[in-house]
Amino acid sequence: MAKALVLFSGGQDSTTCLFYALHNYEQVWTMGFAYGQRHAIELDCRQNILAEIPRLFPQWAERLQDDVVCDLASLALLDQNALTSDAEIAVKDGQLPTTFVPARNLLFLAYAGAYAYRREIHTVLMGVSETDYSGYPDCRSQTIQSMEQSLSLALDSPMHIETPLMHLDKAATWQLALDLAGDKGLELLIAKSHTCYAGDHSHFHPWGYGCGQCPSCLLRQRGWEAFCRTR
Ligand code: ZN
Repeated sequence: MAKALVLFSGGQDSTTCLFYALHNYEQVWTMGFAYGQRHAIELDCRQNILAEIPRLFPQWAERLQDDVVCDLASLALLDQNALTSDAEIAVKDGQLPTTFVPARNLLFLAYAGAYAYRREIHTVLMGVSETDYSGYPDCRSQTIQSMEQSLSLALDSPMHIETPLMHLDKAATWQLALDLAGDKGLELLIAKSHTCYAGDHSHFHPWGYGCGQCPSCLLRQRGWEAFCRTR
């Protein structure tokens, strides 16, 4: 049985990764994290998406396995960044954006390894991309490959980290979701996924909910518009 664990936040990218996993693997587990994020609304969104999948995609219903949410609240005590404190969301030349949460993805992957080991899951899927993002060093292919090696060594068991979005821009990510899950998949992404850093889930746009102004909303909006031009 081909097994996979998806790091699933409830955002556009990880929801597309979940579609990818359900398309390609026979058993798919999901893992989320409560790390004191300002946009904790995404934790509700991910539950709503998981609840909708068996109804919208009966062919995937049997594949979806357990979901777990890990409590990493102490991460917010360690650093004053714009995702886990009220620090300003800012992008300054030559610096990483204030939305960078140091070591977050490494922690997520370590938790994934802890969960995967006894379930004999050897593939973890993650929606990181080095194409469109703001240069987050923990989204780079090199970091992921290094973590794959570290986990495989530390568990003494092969661990593959699959990143289907690594070289896609946001327009191509919308396209991938359409290819995997059709119009129902796009509708689910727009209606239920959450990407906005500011945690705004009250303003609705053609591409979904969000403040429409933070870097994450702008990326999602521009990707949607570029995708629509190609349809
Ligand atoms: Zn926003």
